[in-house]
Amino acid sequence: DDHQHDHVNHDDLIFSFEFFPPKTDKGAENLRAVRNELAALNPRFFSVTYGAGGSTQANTLNTVLEIQRDSGIEAAPHLSCVGSSAEQIREILDTYRNNGIKHIVALRGDLPSGSRDLGQFRYANELVEFIRKETGDHFNIEVAAYPEMHPQAPNLKVDIDNFVRKVNAGANSAITQYFFNADAYWHFVDECVKKGVEIPIVPGIMPITNYSQLARFSDMCGAEIPRWLRKQLETYADDVESIAKFGEEFISLLCENLLETGAPGLHFYTMNRVEPTMSIWKNIGLAD
Ligand code: FAD
Repeated sequence: DDHQHDHVNHDDLIFSFEFFPPKTDKGAENLRAVRNELAALNPRFFSVTYGAGGSTQANTLNTVLEIQRDSGIEAAPHLSCVGSSAEQIREILDTYRNNGIKHIVALRGDLPSGSRDLGQFRYANELVEFIRKETGDHFNIEVAAYPEMHPQAPNLKVDIDNFVRKVNAGANSAITQYFFNADAYWHFVDECVKKGVEIPIVPGIMPITNYSQLARFSDMCGAEIPRWLRKQLETYADDVESIAKFGEEFISLLCENLLETGAPGLHFYTMNRVEPTMSIWKNIGLAD
């Protein structure tokens, strides 16, 4: 379709797809099919979460190794540090390095509620520093960014200063928490640029498929659902088809807007599903 955004050149942009490690054989089978389809879109990398939802390091490692081996596309494990010792992190880094993994998403993570043992790392900037100290330039390091502020930060200004610490510790690139306000993203990017940040800050894209789940999750992780969007989604109640259709249209427009205004790429939280990521991709004119 030549009327569609032919100025958006796929090759110059950073596209990536995030998965969680499957816990069952059926889940693993599903993920194989999903990543086969998404591999056809030629992303820069796939990433695999760690720890969230009770997954283990072995789950993440196995998933990452299989992806890298079978898809030929770079796979980046997420690695969270809170609650771990330096020795544990060193071992994990060694395992990744010995298995040809060169890309990592470095996070603080969250302690399970009730747990008070921080371990040797309090914040993600300490993990980035440690990875650089231990492994030099081996890893391409991604860090997390929160355009609408990390929920524990006292204010956006402080949170941006803390984000800049991770960049200065040696991060190569950042992926944002999802957001539905493009203005919040651009404000964050502008403030970072003013502080000398030069690395790409890639918007994290959360498809909308289930309203109650999204509302719960957004409260937890500090992503705002604008009032008008909340109201619109509420009117659909249990009509999942309408939510999916509206969600796909809205997220496609958000992605289009972000790329047209100069975002360096997009990172999709796929939830281990082809849809709606694939439809959004087609809607924004990125299909060949
Ligand atoms: P940090 O950058 O350390 O920030 C955490 C808080 O501490 C912020 O409020 C910040 O302002 C403050 N802070 C940071 N540095 C300092 C400092 N030096 N001094 C004082 N205050 C400081 N979680 C998982 O468990 N597994 C995953 O796989 C996972 N993947 C994610 C992927 C992405 C792209 C994103 C955006 C989040 C992901 N998370 C994951 C969630 C993440 O672990 C949580 O949001 C966590 O609460 C913060 O991690 P962080 O790396 O952003 O922490």
